[in-house]
Parts: sequence; C-alpha cells; structure tokens
Amino acid sequence: MSLAVTGALHAGKPVGLRAEEGVIVELGPDVQPRPEDVKLDAAGAILVPPLLNGHTHAAMTLFRGYGDDLPLMRWLEEKVWPIERKLQPEDVYWGTRLACLEMIRSGTTRFWDMYWHPEAAARAVRDAGLRAIVAAPLIDVDGRSEAMREAALRSLEELSERGERVEAGLAPHAIYTVSEDSLRWIAELAAERGITVQIHLSETEQEVDDCVAARGERPAHYLDRVGLLTPRTVLPHGVWLDESELELIAARGAVIVTNPVANLKLAVGRVFPYVRARAAGIQIGLGTDGPGSNNSLDLFADMKVFALVQKHEARDSAAVTAEEAWEVATGARAPLLGGARGLEVGQPADFLLLRAGAPELSFGELPAALVYAASGAVVQSTVVAGRVLMRDGEIEGAEEVLARALERARRLGLTPAALA
Ligand SMILES: [Zn+2]
Repeated sequence: MSLAVTGALHAGKPVGLRAEEGVIVELGPDVQPRPEDVKLDAAGAILVPPLLNGHTHAAMTLFRGYGDDLPLMRWLEEKVWPIERKLQPEDVYWGTRLACLEMIRSGTTRFWDMYWHPEAAARAVRDAGLRAIVAAPLIDVDGRSEAMREAALRSLEELSERGERVEAGLAPHAIYTVSEDSLRWIAELAAERGITVQIHLSETEQEVDDCVAARGERPAHYLDRVGLLTPRTVLPHGVWLDESELELIAARGAVIVTNPVANLKLAVGRVFPYVRARAAGIQIGLGTDGPGSNNSLDLFADMKVFALVQKHEARDSAAVTAEEAWEVATGARAPLLGGARGLEVGQPADFLLLRAGAPELSFGELPAALVYAASGAVVQSTVVAGRVLMRDGEIEGAEEVLARALERARRLGLTPAALA
C-alpha cells in the first residue's frame, strides 16, 4: 500500500510526502503522486510529527465523569474497584476503541497502556490502527502471588500475536500493591525476555513515607534494589522523587512520564521536579493518565499545563520553552518510549496534518501556537504507518464506537440515568 500527500507545509515550505509499506520514502518540494497511491490533499495544512501519550489506562473512558472530585483512595475504593470487578473483555475493547478514536482526533498515535484484559485492549488498538505498548496491571497485595504470576505470563502469551503495531509490556501497578518477591520475579522475567516495564512511582507523599518506614529507603532506591530500574523501565509520575533518586534514575537509564493534569486534579501536593530531572539527564515523556482521572485524552491540554506548571514552579517563564514542551509531548526527549524519530525518509509514516487557516496556528511562531494556543481540534488528518486514520476530520466507524462504548458503560451502571 502506498500513500501520497500533496500540498502540505513543513518547516514553512510547501512539501509532498510519499509512503510505501508504512515508511516515508519521499519528502520534499518535488514529490509527485503515483497512479497507485492513496491520495491525501493537504490543501495547505501543516505537517508535524504526532504526539505520544506515555501513560494512560485507555479503557477508563467508560469511567469518565464517574466519582469526580473525591480523594484518590475513596474514588478507587468506593467507585472504581467495585465496577472493575465486573469488567468483561468487551467493556475494555469498546472503552479502548473510544480512547483510540479520541486520540486519533487529537493527534496522539502511540500510547502506553496499563489496564485489565490487555488482550482486548490490544485488539482495539489493532482495529483502530494506532500503536501501543499494552500491559495488564499486576497486583498481589493480598498474597495472591501465584495468580498474579500466572496472569502475567498468560497476558504475555495472549499479546504475542497482536501484530507489529502492538507490543506487550509488564506493568506491576506500584511498589505498594506488589510484594518484593513478585517485583523481583517481574524484573527477572523482563530481563530474560527483553520486555519493557511500567510502574507508577512516587505519585503521593504517602507512598514515599510508607516505603521509608517499611524499608528504610526511598521508592527509587527500593526499585533499584529489586532490579526494576533499567533502560527498559518507564516510571509514570515521579512527583516526590528527591535528588538522589533522580541521579539514580538517570544513571540506570529509566524514563519518567509526567502527568501534570492528573497530578493537579488528584491534588498530589507537589509538582514533578522536571527542571532537576532534565539537569540530571533523565529521558522524559508526557502522559494523560487514565481518562477516569484526567478526564481528557487531548494531549495538547496536558502539554500546555506541563509548560505552565513548570514555569510557575521555577518562577522563570523561560524554564520550559514551547519548543521543548512540544519535544516532550512528541516523545523526542524519551527515545525509549519508542516514538518515531522525526519526519524523514526511512522513518515510519506517522504524522498529522493541522488545519490550514486555524486561527490558533495563523500567527507567530509554530511551537508557541501549538503549545499555548492550540487544542486537539486543530488536527485535520492523522496517519499511522501510511494509513489515513482520520481524513479531514472524518474517522470511519466513529458513531458505532461511541454508541458501543456508551452501551458498555450503561451495562456497568456508569452512565447517569439522564444520558442512558
Ligand atoms: Zn496511572
């Protein structure tokens, strides 16, 4: 399959682009479509790389607006966990399809997912045409280590046949929900098979205090001791990390994914120490966290909040530039998250076309427009592996996806009667 994009603007100049078998084969002013190509007329739209969501729980679109404004533990214990016990694979499938639809619409083409029934999430990602690393949350606080290990191995097996755009990961939920023995077991399994690991780290002060009280060491040092701090480790949050932990994470080559909107909404009490993490040389990406606690998957919003919060925290409006915030949101500052390495020949044909004439993009420098003025609504077309997933705002099957997701939410009792 081949694709030809004509009439786009890239770095301020008119360009065309051709892709074959999912890879960019031509990019420049003189590119001509061939008869066999699928044609996409950009009509002056701006060609940019796509966004990368480094941490989410995609199927929680179904939980959006359910139990908002509660403290984290009450929200989980009273609202989320009782419903999650009733989840079926089809709930996760349609919840994830809806998340993919929203991501396609707002320009995200790759994401790191941690959620139940990962085989259903993987199927949804494949059917939607996106890219993802998918993993089941692993939890064994109640002494169910054997069951957790069986579930981990089963999920790796089920995820092994999900095609080249979906990768399997391992996702121990957090240091306070997985035993030390099981963390070591996961570390060994991941090393043996070369699998990436994602684990929530230092989201709340309570987590740090409990870890220090129980083990006499801070969370990142503990993770390192059990073998889980490696160049294959992705750490969502990292809000409460101290200097020694940042240095250790940098030395081990692990990645931190900051989730500023979710952290603010859940009032975790501190801002991720981005400027110090950057100085330590840590790879850093951006995430939304789950749509149950964000509540949006439009990463443009998180990008803006990220830049603003970090400027505010540093008391320095130059602490994070628009260009840098854009690099964080596209995964350019965290190669280990696996995003494309830019728009050039030989790279995967993953890109966005941003609406020509959008007022948000029509004035001033592009990075500032993208970070401070735009929302995901400026995305006009989304392409992954040379396949057009959204063309001029239209996504095939969008109505069905929303209808089926609403149906699943109703079945779970998540949709208010007024909307049911
Ligand atoms: Zn999370």
